[in-house]
Amino acid sequence: MKRNFKFCLLAGAAAVFSLTACSDDRIEESAQPNDKTETAKIEQPGDLQKQCSYVDQNWSSTAVLKTTLNATADTNFMNGQMTNLINFWGGTSLTFRFVYDASNPNSTYNAISYSNGKIYYGYAIYYDAKAKGGDIVNAMILAHEYGHQLQYRYNLPSVSESTARPNELEADGFAGYYLRRPNGYNKTDFSQIAAAYEFAQSIGDYQTTSPGHHGTPPQRRSAVRLGFLLGQYSLSASDFDYNFFYYYQGVLNGTYKMGKNSRNPEIDAYMSQYMDELRKIQSGEISAEEFKKL
Ligand SMILES: [Zn+2]
Repeated sequence: MKRNFKFCLLAGAAAVFSLTACSDDRIEESAQPNDKTETAKIEQPGDLQKQCSYVDQNWSSTAVLKTTLNATADTNFMNGQMTNLINFWGGTSLTFRFVYDASNPNSTYNAISYSNGKIYYGYAIYYDAKAKGGDIVNAMILAHEYGHQLQYRYNLPSVSESTARPNELEADGFAGYYLRRPNGYNKTDFSQIAAAYEFAQSIGDYQTTSPGHHGTPPQRRSAVRLGFLLGQYSLSASDFDYNFFYYYQGVLNGTYKMGKNSRNPEIDAYMSQYMDELRKIQSGEISAEEFKKL
């Protein structure tokens, strides 16, 4: 059984789709060879990908993949960030696409990182993030999604729990780390990173029925702060993971390992200055507003 849809792209070109009965097996075809709509199907997230807090639903059956946003400057910014993230972490190229849906725009309020080397980024989340918080919010969301790529590639996180919490907190940490590093986003002012994070979390977190599943908001703030602090040092993804979880108990409950940081002992002296601060972030003694002034 096939159904055909017509809709207009913003550029004015019409595209015709054929749709199979199963939305997971959909193939769209572009009527205009020069438009930017891809002819590949949109892969729906599996259970693993759905755990990311930016995901609250499957892509709509009317959504299409595109290689561009509306404006060239926006496309260049995001592609530039994607390239920079890959170079920063020493990765290989991946499939990065935008998801557009003319008939159900809100359905693209989503960003998904797939274990087979794809990142799909919705138009709706991109433009809302940009309008409300500027480029840095999209840079942070993309850095978080790329953090999941690092987890897939290096079999991280090294800590497992019964929920996705360590995966999500570490992805937040990867984002905080990338945003600070000179060859990353190069934002040494934590207040801007904190403000971007507050917004990224507010638009992304729909998991209201399972609080704590991805870490509480104070724990996630603490994870971003920890990632930012580790940005004082140049670390591989695997060293980042080691150190992130070395100090992870501080993110969760303000306690710290008393043993030696055997991998990067030089970090201990620096981090010891911030242990009380991390504890106060996760306990709520440092409020969301105060967090932005750190
Ligand atoms: Zn995530």
